[in-house]
Amino acid sequence: MVPAVDVRGLTRRFGGTLALDGVDLHVAPGTVHGLLGPNGAGKTTLLRILVGLVHSDSGSVRVLGQDPAAGPRAREGVAALIEAPRFRPALSAEDNLRMLADLDGGRAAAVLDEALATTGLTAERRRPVRHFSLGMRQRLGMAAALVREPQLLVLDEPANGLDPAGSRDMLDLVGRLAAEGRTVLLASHDMADVAAACDDVTILVRGQVARSGPVAALRAEAPAPAHLLETA
Ligand code: ATP
Repeated sequence: MVPAVDVRGLTRRFGGTLALDGVDLHVAPGTVHGLLGPNGAGKTTLLRILVGLVHSDSGSVRVLGQDPAAGPRAREGVAALIEAPRFRPALSAEDNLRMLADLDGGRAAAVLDEALATTGLTAERRRPVRHFSLGMRQRLGMAAALVREPQLLVLDEPANGLDPAGSRDMLDLVGRLAAEGRTVLLASHDMADVAAACDDVTILVRGQVARSGPVAALRAEAPAPAHLLETA
């Protein structure tokens, strides 16, 4: 089976900062994979390379068997929530989704309904987005990714900035995606979130992989590798 993500020896430097230093990452299809690490560990840089927003300096990158740097066609099948989408505040949730995803065709209505249901926004679909809380906007961002019917969903700290209830909603949502058998790569600095939501985890510290493997194996380690998460 082709891995959803297959990264080897990935390196990226910004000026004097080595953001990624020989990173390997393998994400199996149908799994939720956590990318865990403190601020500045290189998580966002790695995700941005996977979706073609940033180039690498060296190493090999395959996402769904393709090189994401090769252009938009090579990135079909991948949807990401890395930066907050630019919603139009005066438009309803569903009109924003239609606009962002350029929805048309026979399946459009069904895909839209499903994305709204999965993200718990069905009852809010006709409300203008200016009335949405941060957590609802974040879920709408997930819906915008889902309407693209991705084979791989890339999420960068989706619970960041949310209150505890919003964070819980987001984790529940990732749990629903996992139950649907979707492939998700989830960056987070919160070990508890990753332990709750993910099958596998790769821990990045200062641009290097400190650990990678099943969450269950990591949890069994004593002492817990919390020291890996101290801010770099
Ligand atoms: P955070 O959770 O704070 O976003 P992160 O793990 O996502 O952290 P990155 O944002 O990938 O980490 O940053 C890794 C390192 O690369 C940091 O030292 C950061 O300052 C640096 N960096 C990232 N992007 C750039 C850029 N465009 N120009 C200069 N330095 C950058």
